[in-house]
Amino acid sequence: MLMSMAPMLQDAREKRYAVVAPGVNDLQTIEAVFQAADEMNAPIILDCVEMNDIEAVADITEFMALRYPQVDVALNLDHGKSFEVCAKAIQAGFTSVMIDCSMLPFEENVAITAEVTKMAHAVGVSVEAELGRVGSAQKYAEDRLSPFTDPVEAVEFVKRTSVDCLAVAVGTAHGLYKDEQPELAFDLIAELRTVVPVPLVLHGASGTGDDEMARAVQAGITKINLFSDLSLAGTRAVEEVLNSGMTTPLGFLPLSMVYGKGVAAYKKMVMHYIEVSGSKGAAVR
Ligand SMILES: [Zn+2]
Repeated sequence: MLMSMAPMLQDAREKRYAVVAPGVNDLQTIEAVFQAADEMNAPIILDCVEMNDIEAVADITEFMALRYPQVDVALNLDHGKSFEVCAKAIQAGFTSVMIDCSMLPFEENVAITAEVTKMAHAVGVSVEAELGRVGSAQKYAEDRLSPFTDPVEAVEFVKRTSVDCLAVAVGTAHGLYKDEQPELAFDLIAELRTVVPVPLVLHGASGTGDDEMARAVQAGITKINLFSDLSLAGTRAVEEVLNSGMTTPLGFLPLSMVYGKGVAAYKKMVMHYIEVSGSKGAAVR
């Protein structure tokens, strides 16, 4: 069933597991995520950034929700940068939006987020916002010094905006790391889990490592955003099939076959992270 993130994440917060939120782009990745969630009886969140065709993604998700009615799924706009794009996503059929004004001063972040929350909640759509700054993994040496989420500010932020969940800066970064391993601030996650009354989201979770990720969930993370590890697994599978010398009676490999190998690897990685997050078998049916 297509639903907002709020009930899903509340259950996860209470039971100390995390819901995996794969970044999706198209019909193939969306169906792969539905299948992974179905096979593992896990709740799941589709994260989609605004540079995709969000109307198409919403239509495809509604279609898949009919094809897989047993899957509990939320469709969330990832890193929406303005009130307008959040409104556009809601109109398209998204059941959740993230408004990311984390680059703005605290008061401006509060003001825009509160506006989005008021609009979204009026139509039953959940809202994620970000406080602190999750930087880029490619510039980790520099971006690791970006401000972490301050617990006192986080409490005030949630109170004044009524968001349903909060993306926190606790040591991860977006994309793939070069040589470094991210260093997660587990004590800060635990402190935020204690004082902040809504679920916490880990962005840039790719490359964190399975043990570290499981530890972050135990410390209090409730939603895990993943894109790079999933996408890279798919790309490597495509490279493998192209370099394998495999052929067909047609004398070439059909595009769907090549892409299909990539999507299968993407799906396998989603299933791996469902296991790591502790959400396997967590769907309430
Ligand atoms: Zn992110």
